[in-house]
Amino acid sequence: MVDCFYFLLLRPLSEKKSDLPTKKSRVHFILILNINLLILIDMMTREQYIESLRKMKMNVWYMGEKIDNPVDHPMIRPSLNSVAMTYWLAEQPEYQDVMTVVSNLTGKRINRFCHLHQSTEDLVNKVKMQRLCGQKTAACFQRCVGMDAFNAIYSTTYEIDQKYGTEYHKRFTEYLKYVQDNDLTIDGAMTDPKGDRSLSPSKQSDPDMFLHIAEIRPDGIVVRGAKAHQTGAVNSHEHLIMPTQAMKEEDKAYAVSFAIPTDAEGVTMIYGRQSCDTRKLEKYHDIDLGNSQFGGHEALVIFDNVFIPNERVFMCQEYDFAGMMVERFAGYHRQSYGGCKVGVGDVLIGAAALAADANGVTKASHIKDKLIEMTHLNETLYSCGIACSCEGCKMAAGNYMINLLLANVCKQNVTRLPYEIARLAEDIAGGLMVTMPSEADLRSKEIGHYVEKYLKASPDFTTEERMRILRLIENLTLGTAAVGYRTESMHGAGSPQAQRIMISRQGNLESKKQLARDIAKIKGSEKK
Ligand code: SF4
Ligand code: FE
Repeated sequence: MVDCFYFLLLRPLSEKKSDLPTKKSRVHFILILNINLLILIDMMTREQYIESLRKMKMNVWYMGEKIDNPVDHPMIRPSLNSVAMTYWLAEQPEYQDVMTVVSNLTGKRINRFCHLHQSTEDLVNKVKMQRLCGQKTAACFQRCVGMDAFNAIYSTTYEIDQKYGTEYHKRFTEYLKYVQDNDLTIDGAMTDPKGDRSLSPSKQSDPDMFLHIAEIRPDGIVVRGAKAHQTGAVNSHEHLIMPTQAMKEEDKAYAVSFAIPTDAEGVTMIYGRQSCDTRKLEKYHDIDLGNSQFGGHEALVIFDNVFIPNERVFMCQEYDFAGMMVERFAGYHRQSYGGCKVGVGDVLIGAAALAADANGVTKASHIKDKLIEMTHLNETLYSCGIACSCEGCKMAAGNYMINLLLANVCKQNVTRLPYEIARLAEDIAGGLMVTMPSEADLRSKEIGHYVEKYLKASPDFTTEERMRILRLIENLTLGTAAVGYRTESMHGAGSPQAQRIMISRQGNLESKKQLARDIAKIKGSEKK
């Protein structure tokens, strides 16, 4: 528990904005704990994070055109603002406990998004942090994929080294110290394009359908392929690659894990489209976006014969560990959804309640009941996130893993309950959410007064306020944020069937049968 008395900002002599952040040019915080205990904090401010990305020379494409300055591009900037929120919240004294933690690797206070979980309390705090970030952005804030990859790769590399005498864990630990010291955002990348789903990686007609080792050199490897649906790729300093599924010996070239800067030679990112995304380019886009400040994004990331030096390779052909790395990353990210989606759900429930107020139906009993149901569903998801954290355990490498069964139950619920929450929000909002005129009409000198007059409802809300609330619900259920709240709830961190396979593996049906045998006094029972 951090007892924070003072929070000081010490600016270094050089105020120069950095490329990739260096210690010299970054702000150092000193948190004074109980007056006499000093802990050096090595984190970037929100502004430094944004500047650090602006100096990178990424190869980013959107709508068939190369984007020279993704940081300031109106289509991309809201998603960057969401990541930036993870830095800003860590600067705020009131969020120190949840957003920051002392690194077990360096002894410095770091952003929790760069942390290796050291206890079940850390796992619980991770979920709380994600709920907070969801509440503040109402969008996917993207930085969790890196955190989940750190924890999965750290424990898996330890176990690879135990079996094969390799040095992946040492390499990865050094890499993670670099990430923590520089407070980087990392794209934890797992999902390959996969081509024909009925064929294994090595049987595909195009060998690049799964990212693979194309060449092994004395000083490193050359990789080729792609990662699809990459959350926050363009807002990340680095990509941290993992295999996409369990592999057999014939697929060993596809059992590969490594890290590479986002702007490395041979890396191309194609920015994904989202529903209603070009509203961001319209003259009047404030009200109509629903959430003009924040968003999320995914990208198709292509690796065209990219060289990876040995010190950044964390798995190279150890196919028997590919499944372990996948299962652990997926497990952590399924826990994550018990935090982030709940925080976004909080905003949606609040918006639905405000819509009811603005429509003048606050007192209707069915409205109250729908808001209760939405809250019940949302807190059910949170309960799953907290439960799988509390039931976590220590891994051989020393960091903590969530309870895999409960994390998969968490994500399975996430594939369903946000849809019902969204349905109820749309029910409360009413049809006007999708039929009302635009902000441009509201601002029109000729017809704006009609919009103002006929969209007015409760005297407690202006027409513009009512439009803003309805557009926010539209954004979360049908617009750009629906990617994160709806379809990502279905397919992110694995589609529903992936969790059902894990639930079947972890459910321990045999022990349940034994319980029933014992009670029913059926032959085969251990207890008589
Ligand atoms: Fe984080 Fe949720 Fe986005 Fe995944 S979907 S990166 S857990 S905010
Ligand atoms: Fe996700």
